[in-house]
Amino acid sequence: MNYQVIDLGLGCQLIQPYDESGYYCVICAKSHGDRCMYYSDGQPVHDFICPDCRMHPGFDDTPDEKDGLTQEQYVARYRRGWLDSVGWDEECVRRLRSVFEMSDDDIDTIRTA
Ligand SMILES: [Zn+2]
Repeated sequence: MNYQVIDLGLGCQLIQPYDESGYYCVICAKSHGDRCMYYSDGQPVHDFICPDCRMHPGFDDTPDEKDGLTQEQYVARYRRGWLDSVGWDEECVRRLRSVFEMSDDDIDTIRTA
């Protein structure tokens, strides 16, 4: 797996995984084939919404100032919202672990986000 760091500005970043089969969602790691969520210059693809976690690039990718979350906390909370919505489906958790190379601790961080 390869990882492109997406710089959203103001110290916020996302990781877009990709390999020879294409791109993966920055939140839920769903395979999107040749559809990226961010262009190589970091600009969001505004007409794309992940069908699994509903992440909308350019709209859902950074915390609201009033929420007081760091970018890492925001991403973890978004992932928890998605996993809650699928009942922590084993296949979804396995996908996150595999694509983002997450440890048990990483998964626990999401669980308590
Ligand atoms: Zn997604």
